[in-house]
Formats: sequence, C-alpha cells, structure tokens
Amino acid sequence: MSEIVLTADRSLMSDYGGGIFVGFAACAPKLIPEWLYKRLLCPPIPEHDGIAKFAPCGTRKIEAALLEKGFDISVAHPEHLHKVINEETKAVGITANDPLGLGPASSTFSGLIRKETYTAFYHRKLLANSSLRENGAKVIAGGPGAWQLADERIMTKLGIDCVVVGEGEITAVEMFERALNGEKLPRVVDGEVVPLKRIPSIKNPTICGLVEIARGCGRGCKFCIPTLLNYRYRPIKQILDEIKVNLNAGAEGALLHAEDVLRYGAKGVIPDEEKVTKLFRAALKLTNNVWLSHIAFASVMAKPSLIERLTEMLNSKSNKELRISSQVGIETGSPRLVREHMSGKVAPFKPDEWPEVVVEAHKLLCDNNWQPCSTLIMGLPKETSEDVMKTVELVERLDEYNSLIVPLFFVPIGALDTKKFFTVEDMLPEHWMLLGACVKHDMKWVGEMADGYFQSRPIQKILVGKFILNLMKKKLKPYIKQMEQGINPLSKQHPKD
Ligand code: SF4
Repeated sequence: MSEIVLTADRSLMSDYGGGIFVGFAACAPKLIPEWLYKRLLCPPIPEHDGIAKFAPCGTRKIEAALLEKGFDISVAHPEHLHKVINEETKAVGITANDPLGLGPASSTFSGLIRKETYTAFYHRKLLANSSLRENGAKVIAGGPGAWQLADERIMTKLGIDCVVVGEGEITAVEMFERALNGEKLPRVVDGEVVPLKRIPSIKNPTICGLVEIARGCGRGCKFCIPTLLNYRYRPIKQILDEIKVNLNAGAEGALLHAEDVLRYGAKGVIPDEEKVTKLFRAALKLTNNVWLSHIAFASVMAKPSLIERLTEMLNSKSNKELRISSQVGIETGSPRLVREHMSGKVAPFKPDEWPEVVVEAHKLLCDNNWQPCSTLIMGLPKETSEDVMKTVELVERLDEYNSLIVPLFFVPIGALDTKKFFTVEDMLPEHWMLLGACVKHDMKWVGEMADGYFQSRPIQKILVGKFILNLMKKKLKPYIKQMEQGINPLSKQHPKD
C-alpha cells in the first residue's frame, strides 16, 4: 500500500503478444468485442496483488524519479486498482498515450469508421474506476497524449486534478510532492525539459523490454511535438543497466527506443557508425534479441554501411537471417511540402531528393531483410491535390518492397499555426486514391509481418495470419477499387464533387 500509485489504461498494459507494433491495434475503432480483442491481440501483463510486473517505459521513468526522491510508490495494474489504492494513497498518476483517441492513428481510423478507439475506451474506463478517488486521492495525468486532456471541461468530466504536458521527471514529481503536502495543484502545467543527467534509470521492468536510448530528435519538423527539439542520448552504461533490469525480470530481449535509433550518439544528422555499433555490440552481449523502435530514411541513406553492419551483427548473434522491423516516417512524397514543413527530416539530403531517398532506402532495407513500417500524413497545411498525387506516385514506386505504409490524418500538435484537425470530410478524391494505394500495398505485405509476429503463437498465427487477413483482403478488394478511382467507398459518392 503506497502514498503514490501509478497506472495506465489497459491498452497500454499489454505486450501485445511480444509484438509491440501490434499495439497499433489499440488505435483501431472498437469493432470486435472486448473479450476477443483482449484474447487475440491485447493480453494483460502479469500482476501480483494488483502490482503490475511490467509497465510502460514512461510510467517506469516517473516511478524511478519518485523512488530516487524517496517516495513510497506502487505501479498498479488498471484492472486491479482496488487491491493497491487505499486510505494511505494521496495521489494517483495516470500515463496517457492517446486518452481521447485524438492521436494521428486513432483520429484516422476512428474518423473513417466513426467509432471510438480502444485507446479512448480503455482510458474512459480507467478514469471511471471508483477506486481512483474513493479516498480523496489527487489524480495527476501525464504522458505523450497529455495534450488531449489539457482542457478544463475534459478534466472536470474525467475527474483529473492536474495535467502535466511534456516531460515529467521534474515537473510531475513536483506535482506529486505538492499533492502529498496537501497543496493546491495547477490545473495544467508544462513539463520542464529534463537535462540528460537528471533522466533517471528504470528500477523495474518495462513492457517488451523497451529501453530509452535517446530522447528528443532535433530535426525540427513543424508538425511534430516541439519538446522533441532537444536531443539527448544516454550513456551506454545506463542503457545496459536498464536492459539488465528487463532481462532479469524475464524479458526476451531489448527494444531500443529513440526517435531514430540510427542517430544514437550522433552530433548532427549523419549517423555515427562507431557509436551505434558499439551500443549494439554491448547490448548483444546481454541478449540475442535486440530490436529497434524507430529509424529515419535519411539516416539509412546517409550511412548505408550502418544498415549492413547492424544486419550482420544481429543475424550472426541469432544464427539466422532475421526479419528486422522498425517504424519510419515518409510523411509526404511532395518535395514542395517537404520544403514547407520538414526540411530537417530529410537532411543531409535536399527536399527535391526526398522521393528518391525513400525509394533507395526501401531497396537497401529490403535487400537486408528489414521491413519498415512507415507513416504518411494526409492534410498537411497548404497541401494541394498535386502534392497528394506525388505521394500516391511514391507509394506506387514502393510496391515491390516488403513494407507497411500507414496514412494518417494531420493532427495539429506541432508549431504550425493551426488548430484544425484533418477529417474525412476534408478528403479530396486524391486522398482516397492515396488511401487505396496504401491499403493495396499493405494487403500485399501484411501477411509476412503477421507471420513474423505470431511465430511463437501458432493459434494466433492461423487465426490472424490466415483467417482474418484473408477475410480482410476479400472484403477490402471492392473498396480498394473505388478508392483508386478517387471515390469515397463509404458514401459511394465522389467527395467534394
Ligand atoms: S524527424 Fe520525426 S521525431 Fe523528428 S521532428 Fe520530424 S517528425 Fe518529429
């Protein structure tokens, strides 16, 4: 029983069967019943007396910062809160990734199908849990999706006392301190950027063995979260210590997390091959399984030899040819929009070179058996139908490469001077063509990805890999045909004609 309890909604408290990218399923509209969703895709993480054995990395970082200050703290499983929260609990911290389903993936999928996402459903369910406030504890929310909650009306409705937007290890800890002292909390507060030396090391294991190797990005895309401007990479020793914490708790490997793992330790935009390989070499001494969360196509092409070296290292350690997956951002195929919003993302290349960089990076990655999972943004400010067609052409050029491409609606979270979310109603015929091209591409390659993910889960492999995907392919065929002609298959009319 603790004075501070941390938790997160049920969609964050799962390892998705070991495939953390399957976690994207949480951003999908709630189409299948909860019990089937949990069974098939989102099994619960283990708990003991309500204490979660694994937790999201962000929750573990706040836990570590609080422990370093000497607080008495527990991390609770959201479905067993009543076992952990009691009259001693003065504050409950909630990690929020996508609490209202407004993030790019959720707003796209739920916008198209017009149904609530699992992320929003589970967050609502968590905040409605009577154990949270039974004893008058203060509810403090933070995390990457905290911006969605920073609204007086929403906070009142959900019963949240304070929202910390941005990094939490300094500011959120101050809020917990104040709550414990019975002081008044600000309703919304900006989280101070945490200097490298004050980023704490996790004390307890994270889900999927995720370890933060660097924080921030520095490429400065205008549509991205501004706090990512400040790039910091963590010393190898700290990273290895965190990997050990996870392995000792039974993790199957280390998922290295950064906005661009290939740029670990780099001083600018060109990857530092020696630093990255040194990190991987050290991590591979601890475990055969080292995975990468995100990479950047510009980094792939700025140092092609790095991909070859990493592939060799990862393969030789596990003694087989691995399929290596990672999340990447294409965002647009239009050099004009690249120049307008994301020239830093393509550096050291020029905006005009971007489509070629993306194609060549796919070629190199696929030659090395990597499978990038890319995002695109539909509805970037000032986007014209010509820009969208350039992205369609780029997607078509990627047809032969084993990869996934996920088009997402623009969400105004960055430095751009707009508050307008892109919606289905804003879609031009060219956007439907783009959506059709992406769905066609993904249906061609998604089976391979599912095979890899469900390798150790034969029932799911047959159920998802064969039955569900085949059904989806069949059902989607007529929709893809219409979309390719610029038709909204949901209304069966040309949008905006
Ligand atoms: S490269 Fe990615 S993480 Fe970096 S600023 Fe651009 S969108 Fe954000």
